Amino acid sequence: MSEQFNPFAIAQLQIDQAALKLGLDPATHELLRWPMREIKVVLPVRMDDGSTRIFHAFRIQYNTARGPAKGGIRWHPQETIDTVRALAAWMTWKTSVVDIPLGGGKGGVICNPKELSEGEKERLARAYIRALAQSLGVTRDVPAPDVYTTPQIMAWMMDEYETILGENHPGVITGKPLVLGGSKGRNDATARGGIYVTREAAATYGISLSGGTMAVQGFGNAGQYAALLGEQILGLKLVAASDSRGGVYNPNGISAAALVEYKQKSGALKGFPDATPISNEELLGLDVTVLFPAALENLIREDNAANLKCKICCELANGPTTPEADRILEGKGIVVLPDFLANAGGVTVSYFEQVQNAYNLYWELQEVHWRLDKKMTGAFREVYEMSQSRGTHLREAAYLVAIARVAEACKLRGWV
Ligand code: NAD
Repeated sequence: MSEQFNPFAIAQLQIDQAALKLGLDPATHELLRWPMREIKVVLPVRMDDGSTRIFHAFRIQYNTARGPAKGGIRWHPQETIDTVRALAAWMTWKTSVVDIPLGGGKGGVICNPKELSEGEKERLARAYIRALAQSLGVTRDVPAPDVYTTPQIMAWMMDEYETILGENHPGVITGKPLVLGGSKGRNDATARGGIYVTREAAATYGISLSGGTMAVQGFGNAGQYAALLGEQILGLKLVAASDSRGGVYNPNGISAAALVEYKQKSGALKGFPDATPISNEELLGLDVTVLFPAALENLIREDNAANLKCKICCELANGPTTPEADRILEGKGIVVLPDFLANAGGVTVSYFEQVQNAYNLYWELQEVHWRLDKKMTGAFREVYEMSQSRGTHLREAAYLVAIARVAEACKLRGWV
């Protein structure tokens, strides 16, 4: 991976810029540039054909000054420790920017889940927990689902952890199925949080949403709910969406519900009736009110950022915009809602799940939505005020808010 696109190099650069602005002392700056704890494990897993395969896996506990580490587990063939480090750093800023009492962490397993049977997935999930159980727990580190990990995988992981400890511990992991202590409202929480932040940003910057248009890059979990809720809550019309195999476009509007149903049935967007094909690059350049990048990292780069014409870019994906592209978007006056603020709804409802598990008392959906709205709206306001007082754009302001909080916690603990 070239340093230019190495997500951890990007994450460190972002910290360096914020540290300079905040005037952090050298020790605090250096502390925040690195994960505080990295665990690398090797997992032997019995395959269905009787052979044993060895999987390499990570857990990064980036910073726990504000609370136990929190972050998803990704299963991906191209997983690297640097990607997990970057994502763990972003989790630290994410829990901080929405001011929930947690630190940041992330896990990864190098594997191709599409090639694994359900039984192999279960044995891999349990092996991961057996290797890491001593480092996990509600007071240490609480994993969650992420790319290619599901509520079922979380259920196996929770069961393995409880079996090892011989106790009930639903809060050890979030994103569980509802019957095992999951929270209502977790499914759409990431997109919903982004929608609330978009609503606040539009009102603040005087951008009219109702009757406006949206395009969604990456029509997976986050992207599909963004389209549905963008219609329902913001009154936006979906004009384009894409997945890894290409996209569909109709300037007169596409029903989000019909497109979700089509994607769920056929597994792709290609061939959706009443729409023409569109490439991912063309989608990024559409003149829409809101663009939702909801796919993977580094898809908005120096070479294509100048094409963007949206008014608001709500980053539901982690790290979709490179720092060079960021400068270009700023120059064009696009309101960029930075990833770790825009997609913090997921971890916020994960935190609500932990709270409900701890009390063994479960909230109604309306209560989850109300609390999420309050958190996301409050976070946006603090970031906006920081951007005004420092004369900077929202991404840098979000880093300043988040990093200042973590730095203060490190200081108060006497670490630096
Ligand atoms: P997902 O796997 O459900 O969906 C990802 C989608 O992106 C898929 O439809 C895939 O086909 C598409 N895609 C992949 N490469 C693409 C490309 N080059 N161009 C266009 N589309 C492409 O994943 P998800 O859970 O929706 O997560 C999407 C992003 O949001 C990731 O960056 C993830 O880290 C971030 N995120 C998700 C959550 C959550 O709760 N789901 C929370 C925070 C952040």
